[in-house]
Amino acid sequence: MSSPIPTFPEAMHLEPAQRYISRIGVLTSGGDSQGMNAALRGVVRAGIGAGLQVFAIYEGYQGIVQGGAYIERMAWHSVSGIMQQGGTFIGSARSSDFYTRAGRRQAALNLIRHGIEGLVIIGGDGSLTGANLFRQEWRDLLHELVQESQLTQAQADAHPHLAIVGMVGSIDNDMFGTDMTIGADTALHRIVEAVDAIASTATSHQRTFVVEVMGRHCGYLALMAGLATGANWVLIPENPPEQDWEENMCRVMHAGRQTGRRHSIVIIAEGAIDRSGKLITSDYVRKVLAERLREDVRVTILGHVQRGGAPSAFDRVMPTLLGYAAVRQLLHSKPADEPQLIGMRNNQISISPLMENVHKTHRVATLIQEQRYAEAMEMRGRGFVEAYRILHTLMRAQPRPPQAGQRQLRILTLHADGPAPGMNTAVRAAVRLGLDKGHTMLAARDGLSGFARGQISEIRWMDVHGWVARGGAELGANRRALQPQDYAAIAEQIRAQRLDGILIIGGWMGYQFAHALRERRAQFPEFNLPVICLPASINNDLPGTEVTIGADTALNTIQTDLDKLKEAALAARRCFVAEVMGYDCGYLALMAGLATGAERVYIPEEGITLDDLRHDVDMLVKGFRRGKRVGLIVRSERADPYYTTDFIATLFEREGGGELLVRRMIFGNTQQGGRPSPFDRIQATRLAAQALDHLIEQIQKHETDIGCIGRWEGKIQYTNLADLGALMQTTAQRPRIQPWLNLRRVTQAMAKEPM
Ligand code: ADP
Repeated sequence: MSSPIPTFPEAMHLEPAQRYISRIGVLTSGGDSQGMNAALRGVVRAGIGAGLQVFAIYEGYQGIVQGGAYIERMAWHSVSGIMQQGGTFIGSARSSDFYTRAGRRQAALNLIRHGIEGLVIIGGDGSLTGANLFRQEWRDLLHELVQESQLTQAQADAHPHLAIVGMVGSIDNDMFGTDMTIGADTALHRIVEAVDAIASTATSHQRTFVVEVMGRHCGYLALMAGLATGANWVLIPENPPEQDWEENMCRVMHAGRQTGRRHSIVIIAEGAIDRSGKLITSDYVRKVLAERLREDVRVTILGHVQRGGAPSAFDRVMPTLLGYAAVRQLLHSKPADEPQLIGMRNNQISISPLMENVHKTHRVATLIQEQRYAEAMEMRGRGFVEAYRILHTLMRAQPRPPQAGQRQLRILTLHADGPAPGMNTAVRAAVRLGLDKGHTMLAARDGLSGFARGQISEIRWMDVHGWVARGGAELGANRRALQPQDYAAIAEQIRAQRLDGILIIGGWMGYQFAHALRERRAQFPEFNLPVICLPASINNDLPGTEVTIGADTALNTIQTDLDKLKEAALAARRCFVAEVMGYDCGYLALMAGLATGAERVYIPEEGITLDDLRHDVDMLVKGFRRGKRVGLIVRSERADPYYTTDFIATLFEREGGGELLVRRMIFGNTQQGGRPSPFDRIQATRLAAQALDHLIEQIQKHETDIGCIGRWEGKIQYTNLADLGALMQTTAQRPRIQPWLNLRRVTQAMAKEPM
């Protein structure tokens, strides 16, 4: 799973040296998915911004075949206020006409009538295959239309090609060419919310639940939901369970009960099969469990709930970027070029041949059909395989016993700095994976100060039961700074507890602490042990990672509140200045602005000038005069020391000439709380697994590095923190490299209507 911040090459500007097309169409086809609206808005606004005429085609391919009112020119405001809605505002349909040549001929005629030379298709593999066929036939279709006297030869000659760009809208995350499809993250949100809710009732009654999720050929949703909810058994199509899996599953479930687990959850993908390729139904699983364990087992089939609800922050930001990149692709490529798929790979916008991706996607389905499961898993990629492996350990009822003669290491885990959603998830994963490897896991309560005071105890398998979904920090996380004398106390604790390595899950204070230990090694030889940091902070202000654990949850929390604010503002024709957290880092503000369609975002990386303010008042006043009903300005808490949120709100109201009714809203500590989002849970689990592996390896090799595990260009990586200063800016608490800053161009392109 990719992180919620696809980066954007700075060179991704829209203006090409030479323009080949001037009118484009956009349509959504196949099953709907959340985030399609953001993609549409991205295409429409980037297109208009680049001087193109953009047409929306209603009801998928059926709309091109029908023509007339189904093809409508879009204005800037046609796509206002749609991003927070699920589904697609232009409709999506299956079209039997488009499967026929006559249907596609009619479609070609309708496009020519509108002068449309390029199409952006947002859909699944079927829709993209249809688009490719349409493009291949284009010349012949026009020829037929000329013969039928529906077109003149001159008209046909004026449109020799149809340019195609595709994007994948599908909740299943089942396509090649993109690490995430539009809608998959939101579907995961819905599943995880549902499973969390089911788990609480199951706990009350000591019940077992079988939860069926979508995914006919792809186990992504089931696997990731399993990882994110702490499910006890997961069934996916790519990797069917071994023979006699029923026995094995029942044994694990039974053992779980014996250890005190009050609920059991099985997650099954709708396309789950056994080794012989036979479908495993949720009802079959229920029967097996009920009969063999004599338990009360219930089935919940989540169905269309997974397609519903407001899109997550990720499913607004990513599709917006894809929409922008799709327009750019149409502008920059020659019409005769092969159709391309715009996706996101390793956190970068990626452009790759459309049909190659469709074929690879079909290949996995074929491999599954041919029972070549290992190859199918391999084609899903490293992240998928690794997630599966981690899940299998975490699903256990208890750790495997240590191997004979194995040295049992003593590893301490603790938090540093304030709380961030996902901290508990990370502790749970580290503790269970560490125990399963045969080591002793210890935890310090109350952060660094608790460590100094010796609040340390062993932590066992069931101690972290249920932590996967819990907000806050069970071990305690605070910002109390250490005193110089605390280091001697910490050295004493390391000695007394015979610690071999330390895992710090937290923010900047944790990184500084690791560095401080290293600096004091001459004074305290106890500090000669490896220390590894896991980035957990809502601010996304840490080195060695593009995204920190907790930022996605905070972003979704902010987005929910901003959505409400916008609704209220819309009713009353108001402008809001909203302040969000972030400390010295504008990440949350910029991403929240992008996800909610803010007019302007102020971030500390740029500061605020008087000219900015003057310009922005002017922009808002003009907008409201022209009928705008809502204005949203997002200000990062430290965007500027003087131009505070209060100041800006007052200034705008005073200078708005009576046009602007301005309200301010300062979002508080709710941003640090709440249940972690699916992404933060998965991220926390995967990073913790890597961090632990790295730490153990260091201990075994007698190495004593200090470092951190993060995600860079989509890959999980280790960064040595010996030269911590070189990784951070000198005047502010934020890393030197902040790839997400490149997204400013898109934020502006989406907010600024060309005059
Ligand atoms: P998805 O795009 O989600 O895979 P479908 O396979 O149902 O969904 O495709 C959506 C629509 O795309 C179809 O109703 C049809 O109009 C068009 N389409 C799909 N496959 C083809 C094809 N091979 N040739 C022509 N049109 C196609």
